Amino acid sequence: MTRHLDLRHVKSLAVRDLIELANLDDFDRVTEQVRQVAGCTRPVNLVGHTTTLDASTRTVLRSYSTTDEPTGRLLTACGNRRASRCPACSRVYAADTYHLIKAGLSGGKTVPETVRTHPRVFATLTAPSFGPVHNIPGDKPRCACGTEHSEDAPELGTPLRPSTYDYTGAVLWNAHAGALWARTTTYIRRALAAYLDMTQKALNAALRISFAKVAEYQKRGLVHFHAVIRLDGPEGSNQPPPPWATVGALTAAIEYATFKEPDDEIAKDMRACLTVAPDHRGGREIRWGNRVDVREITVGGDGELTDQAVAGYVAKYATKSAEDSGTVDRSLICAPCGGRGYLRGPDGFRDLCADCEGTGQAEPIKDLRIQSHVRQMIATAWELGNRPEYADLKLWKWAHMLGFRGHFSTKSRRYSTTLGALRDVRKAWRTAQAHANAGQDQAEEETTLVTEGSWAYLASGYRPGEELLAAQARHEIQQTRQAADRTKTEGELWQ
Ligand SMILES: [Zn+2]
Ligand SMILES: [Zn+2]
Ligand SMILES: [Zn+2]
Repeated sequence: MTRHLDLRHVKSLAVRDLIELANLDDFDRVTEQVRQVAGCTRPVNLVGHTTTLDASTRTVLRSYSTTDEPTGRLLTACGNRRASRCPACSRVYAADTYHLIKAGLSGGKTVPETVRTHPRVFATLTAPSFGPVHNIPGDKPRCACGTEHSEDAPELGTPLRPSTYDYTGAVLWNAHAGALWARTTTYIRRALAAYLDMTQKALNAALRISFAKVAEYQKRGLVHFHAVIRLDGPEGSNQPPPPWATVGALTAAIEYATFKEPDDEIAKDMRACLTVAPDHRGGREIRWGNRVDVREITVGGDGELTDQAVAGYVAKYATKSAEDSGTVDRSLICAPCGGRGYLRGPDGFRDLCADCEGTGQAEPIKDLRIQSHVRQMIATAWELGNRPEYADLKLWKWAHMLGFRGHFSTKSRRYSTTLGALRDVRKAWRTAQAHANAGQDQAEEETTLVTEGSWAYLASGYRPGEELLAAQARHEIQQTRQAADRTKTEGELWQ
């Protein structure tokens, strides 16, 4: 029952809405729902119901319906990975990623602790050069342009001579980076067998290689990959590899599979390479650049790369996205015409799309407020998207990603647990909490239950009054975190 209030004197719409919420019969539940999504920026609003039945007697044990909620709907966290979209959910994602990577290095979540003794490396694989770019003075005293750039100068990573920079090569490299990585994992196995002077079959019978990788954008708008690579026995993480499968052998295999010219003792064609559809310059080979860095992951010690540090890096990279390279966070395809620029009329003739005036772009690329280097990457991706030989790459769809086609983090099946499994654990824990609060008997779970229900998406976001409650919740979460962070070391921040 809602009491009728005269709120005309309250100017702020949000405050007025909050007062209305506060006058609902169950304001505590409104607050609780907002707290449960833990500061999510744009929660998903669901309507629906579930009923839990005893399988044999069909007695209703529990039922829940959003019609009983004070606002008639259930808020659930958006779950977005990207910090630019939802800082709260991206933090949950980072924490999950941290645990996933950490479990693969130190054990935990079904992985035994002995995994720490397996050879493990952290490799950074980068794209080759597509033309000289402005650089921070590192080994050289100053940039080739003659200027000493500051560390945050916007021109860093952008071409010295844009007119001769190989934009087509850069975009095509991004577009194939995921496929190159996939091929590289095969080539590392092949190179390891060659390095150890074994057949592939004998190597596969003796050991297994596990991978987990994340993608990150460099300032020059090219993605690079950070990967944890580990050697296991043939059964996986619960078994050590043979003693002759050393960190040294693994490092050599990664180097041969990515950039190193094979010497005489090693078989030729060790380097992973993709040949893409020929363009006007002829066929192109997609390879790694030779700035490949492979470092051993150690159990501890000063100045060494530890399990925690690696898991912390990977968690941080996992929440980054293309926006960090200065691009836009949305697809540029004009929705009504699907990027084609025209619609086919009932007479079969092509009619110019009125929404994009024939460009196919939701926002004209030339009007985006971005750096000219990034704009040129996007424009090149769009242009290549017109070519039939690149149709498979769907470059219009990925133009705003500078050609990179997603899959920021991937891992091999045996690396450790999965993000899905971690979410299930959390969900189960929440359900258990809810039951405990409701004073329900855990023994009930012993009987066979069936759950029936149906759910539908209603909207995204908060009511204006809930937004105020969410701001308060975020503030409290931040204060708790800051207090906790002060007592933690860098690697522990995600725990
Ligand atoms: Zn969220
Ligand atoms: Zn420069
Ligand atoms: Zn259009």
